[in-house]
Amino acid sequence: MIELIDATKTYEQGRRVVNAVRGVTLGVTGGEFVTIMGPSGSGKSTLMHLMGALDTPTTGRAVFQGQDLQTMTDTQRSLLRRTRIGFVFQAFNLLPTLTAAENVALPLLLGGTPRKDAINRACGCLERVGLVHRAEHFPEEMSGGEMQRVAVARALIADPDAVLCDEPTGNLDTANSREILTLLAGLPEPGRRAVVVVTHDPTAAGYGTRLVKIRDGLVEADEPVRRAG
Ligand code: ADP
Ligand code: ADP
Repeated sequence: MIELIDATKTYEQGRRVVNAVRGVTLGVTGGEFVTIMGPSGSGKSTLMHLMGALDTPTTGRAVFQGQDLQTMTDTQRSLLRRTRIGFVFQAFNLLPTLTAAENVALPLLLGGTPRKDAINRACGCLERVGLVHRAEHFPEEMSGGEMQRVAVARALIADPDAVLCDEPTGNLDTANSREILTLLAGLPEPGRRAVVVVTHDPTAAGYGTRLVKIRDGLVEADEPVRRAG
């Protein structure tokens, strides 16, 4: 579904050139839950941005369902993100003036879906994360764990083929981290939906089907996760 082929990403920081990703070949298929781990600065977020069409490789290729991302226009990539990919970030990124349901519905509302339909679908997504009773609540009335569940619901609103998460448990305690990871682990569907989690939370690896270790912009290891039981 998502393929990076000898992808590199170079940033210029003033006169300094940073090789954030230095030649990564990595494929993710439907049904997988891939955990990408590595030290801070090893290129994890950059990899996620390449996989999620938020950015394009400096050299090499990034392919989403057979489409080469670097041959697409910004508008095409933006449409692809809104319709096929869900994103979850460390900081929840909920709008404080909108209710949970409105936050989840926002991508549909911006895309022109009538309000009633959008809110109905948002409530369906909130149900999936166990928070439909919180639909009318505002972010400040919710705990961190609840806010991140709302963010997961928002990521699901377009029924995406890939859910990409950057440090989704970074602001959560252990109990809430486990809850979010359990929720994410329920999302992959064979032949259909994949989940990718970029993190340095070691508990996350136990929830995935595959663990990719990144160091200095390179894949250091890429192995299936054996689950106990
Ligand atoms: P990680 O997610 O593993 O912490 P990143 O992908 O964020 O790693 O960063 C990898 C390297 O690329 C770091 O040296 C970082 O400073 C640099 N970098 C990341 N994004 C940018 C950017 N937008 N502009 C310049 N340098 C960047
Ligand atoms: P558009 O170009 O249609 O406004 P965006 O690129 O703003 O689309 O957003 C598409 C998706 O990508 C959204 O779900 C948004 O949350 C996510 N996104 C966009 N830019 C970033 C970013 N810099 N960091 C994290 N997420 C982003």
